[in-house]
Amino acid sequence: MIKEITCIICPKGCKAAVEIEDMQIKNISGLSCKFGQDYVESEAIHPTRIFFSVIPIIGAKNISVLPVRTKKPIPKDLLKRGMNEIRGIKLNPPIKMGEVIIKNFLDTGTDLVASRDAEPDIDDST
Ligand code: SF4
Repeated sequence: MIKEITCIICPKGCKAAVEIEDMQIKNISGLSCKFGQDYVESEAIHPTRIFFSVIPIIGAKNISVLPVRTKKPIPKDLLKRGMNEIRGIKLNPPIKMGEVIIKNFLDTGTDLVASRDAEPDIDDST
């Protein structure tokens, strides 16, 4: 099988043709330098992505949904499971940017964290 992968390490965006047999890389062609090698190898066999989403937050004065992300990339094929995992969760402020929302997200060894602060909506008009 030949898999085509675009290297995203620099703006040149070389298009690599990766020959794979039995989940083993047999050959890579099309890269202009060695810096794209690790990225293309990893992307060909075990692609990963940072998981991004939002979770509803009740009672915050500045936002109605809290953006969240994993600290590190997780396997790409877990992204959909990640969406299911957070469905139905509702949060309450205060939450600080970087605060862990779900530890060891999907048993990946990385945490799901808040991407911004959420401050409580305190009505001080009384
Ligand atoms: S292979 Fe090298 S030159 Fe090509 S996109 Fe990747 S980093 Fe840039």
